[in-house]
Amino acid sequence: MTRYAVIGDPVAHSKSPRIHTLFAEQFTADVQYAAIQVEADGLKSFVDEFFSAGGGGLNVTVPHKESAFALCASTSIQAQLAKAVNTLMLDSNGELFGDNTDGRGIVTDITENHQVAIAGKRVLLVGAGGAARGALPALIEQSPEQIVLVNRTLAKAQTIQNEFADIARVDATSFEALDRKPFDIIINATSLSLHGELPALSPALIAESTCCYDMMYGDSDTVFVSWAKQHGAGVCLDGLGMLVEQAAESFLLWQGKRPETQPVIAALRR
Ligand code: NDP
Repeated sequence: MTRYAVIGDPVAHSKSPRIHTLFAEQFTADVQYAAIQVEADGLKSFVDEFFSAGGGGLNVTVPHKESAFALCASTSIQAQLAKAVNTLMLDSNGELFGDNTDGRGIVTDITENHQVAIAGKRVLLVGAGGAARGALPALIEQSPEQIVLVNRTLAKAQTIQNEFADIARVDATSFEALDRKPFDIIINATSLSLHGELPALSPALIAESTCCYDMMYGDSDTVFVSWAKQHGAGVCLDGLGMLVEQAAESFLLWQGKRPETQPVIAALRR
């Protein structure tokens, strides 16, 4: 039996153990997946001990994604751009490797699960925290016409714009300066939905064909999804699919097989 876990603080609410257990059942893989609370000052020793004891892989969630990145001997290009990892494993030399599968998760959910193309589209990414950074490399790979990055703290959006300048143009802006023209895709990567609050966006940014995506998810519509529906967005999605798809990418890295995600998303919705 191979041991896996998600580490965070807090982590008890995590759906990852359920998701990975459902994935493992598809392959009758003999795995155990736990949610383990790890405090910041114990992160390095926990990771060292977990892998020394034969652990197969770790998912990393808030607040450890950036600190875990710093522990890695090598990382994927996505993790380097995001400066954060959500997946850890040992490489063939027995050294710690980190990847960030959040971006592949959201892009797969939008383009494959919901058949919304990103290529050639105008995308508004709202928020400039870890989730936005994680999503950007995969969004850029889809070749959208434009990516506008809006954030409360403009300096953070501008830093991302500069860091990504070599691979793509990202237009950083403040909420106040945002052009009131509809976008094709609006992604809420702020933590506002957690508190039942909305980013300061004008409904004029929404057209009938707009896809609005909230990275947050819940048992009922998030406040952002409700807002998008109220203003007539054609496709309104929450982040449950992203959660399952990023987990499937982690599973693929660890097990070399990509699980079916649709039945798992359906099970979680129930
Ligand atoms: P961070 O704390 O790194 O970033 C939070 C972002 O929200 C920042 O851009 C911040 O702006 C903005 N923000 C917070 N409060 C306000 C406010 N009052 N007004 C305006 N902007 C605000 O969080 P993460 O990036 O890690 O996570 C963001 C969201 O994405 C969370 O809801 C998380 O649950 C979700 N998520 C979902 C995943 C999934 O698989 N579905 C995966 C990862 C994340 P500022 O820079 O100005 O502080």
